[in-house]
Amino acid sequence: MTEVRTRFAPSPTGFQHIGGFRTALYSWLLARHFGGKFILRVEDTDQERRVAGAIKYLLESFEWLGVDIDEGPSSAELDLVGEPYKGIGGDFGPYIQSQRLPLYKEAAEKLIATGFAYRCDCTPEMLEKERLEQMARKELPGYSGYCRTRNVSADTRHVVRFKMPHKPSITVIDAVKDRVSWDQVPMRDPVLLKSDGFPTYHLAVVVDDHHMRISHVLRSDEWLSSLPLHVLLFDAFGWEKPIFAHLPAVLGSDGKKLSKRHGATSLETFKSDGYLSQALLNYVVLVGWSPGEGDEQEIFKREDLIKKFSLDHVNKASAVFDYNKLIWMNGMYIRALSFEEFTAAAKPFLDQAGMQMAPERWKIIAPHVQERVRALNEIAPMIEFLCRDQIEREMNSMFHKEIDVSRAKQILKLADQKLSGLGDFSVAEIEGALRGLAAELNLKPGPMFGVLRVAVTGKKITPPLFESFSALGREATLQRIRETGVLLENVPAQGG
Ligand code: GLU
Repeated sequence: MTEVRTRFAPSPTGFQHIGGFRTALYSWLLARHFGGKFILRVEDTDQERRVAGAIKYLLESFEWLGVDIDEGPSSAELDLVGEPYKGIGGDFGPYIQSQRLPLYKEAAEKLIATGFAYRCDCTPEMLEKERLEQMARKELPGYSGYCRTRNVSADTRHVVRFKMPHKPSITVIDAVKDRVSWDQVPMRDPVLLKSDGFPTYHLAVVVDDHHMRISHVLRSDEWLSSLPLHVLLFDAFGWEKPIFAHLPAVLGSDGKKLSKRHGATSLETFKSDGYLSQALLNYVVLVGWSPGEGDEQEIFKREDLIKKFSLDHVNKASAVFDYNKLIWMNGMYIRALSFEEFTAAAKPFLDQAGMQMAPERWKIIAPHVQERVRALNEIAPMIEFLCRDQIEREMNSMFHKEIDVSRAKQILKLADQKLSGLGDFSVAEIEGALRGLAAELNLKPGPMFGVLRVAVTGKKITPPLFESFSALGREATLQRIRETGVLLENVPAQGG
């Protein structure tokens, strides 16, 4: 096989969301699987829709995901579009389409010379008139081909149009969709080169995929309707076509295309919500791909994904992005971190919450937190009780069918006595005292510990109780138990 060269070709018209990144990940995995090259090409031919910062965001996102790019915009190219960043470069640049205009012009001239394209100088007013007349005749609107035979001079302001053949017959074997055929193309002499010298997407994509020696074009299946024109263009140029793979959409749980209304879709949000990049990458690859029949593996190291990835196992149907599955997987990845990695991962989240903890205390509590959180943003709320002098309490979580206000008061009072009397405020001593108390009161430990948990930590979900108390220390633990007793004085006796 000739070298596998794949590309991700986003338009910087906004910030790529997770579905777009999946396309990039598949392209990257395919290139890595075959020891080929993964290329980033910026398709900024629609200058009006350009969003400043979108390219830099892409590069940062790939870095965060650990996706390495072999060829892409160089630093000089990034400077030119006003998004300075460390560039990539490569032998087939520039990798930003607005910096490749002479190539598109040359290609368009070639098609004119060979009779596949022509210049058109129809004004917007003429085109609008034509469109209205077609609508009145209930015809599909589209260019009539008026300039096809007019030999418009290169010196007048013009566009270049493709001479769409009458009833072309086109068949493509798509690597995901299998055989796709068209016997007509619903585009009438589409524009290839605009009068300002910019190409349209169709010309640019074909020219670049050819010149950059792209072997496999992976993209979302919303581009499938453009494929017949691309095939005609490759044929008109006499260029070999790449392998095409049109990927089914990523859907939200309601079956609609994944979008902001389904929650986080931008990488930034996943990051700030406390997802680990390896977990996100692993999960996103599984949305629409599986290693194959009978292989139930779900947690993949990067090397495993590279080894196992193939287009054969990309689903033909759209796949649903399941946030529950993602957060489960994230929890699995969190648990697999070493103490040092977990500490480093937690730090920005604790900093952001303005929380600091003495290293000795963190060492005691961190393993228990790591066992319980599913995302890094759950850490700070879980250990807030250790870092703040004052806590908010979810008082209602204290009550239970066996535990009303007077019972809760009794538990607090007796726990205070037991814990005050302990020689050593160790996990084992605390546990012994409190289990003993539950037995004395003839209460199930769960609900009774629930009262103490809310009293001391404020929350229903925390690291294990005895460890939490021990980490907090006797003085603060007793003070909080007493404070809660006072709070309960103000709750009507039948509460709970
Ligand atoms: N620029 C197109 C996009 O924004 C690329 C489509 C393709 O990969 O050919 O998705």
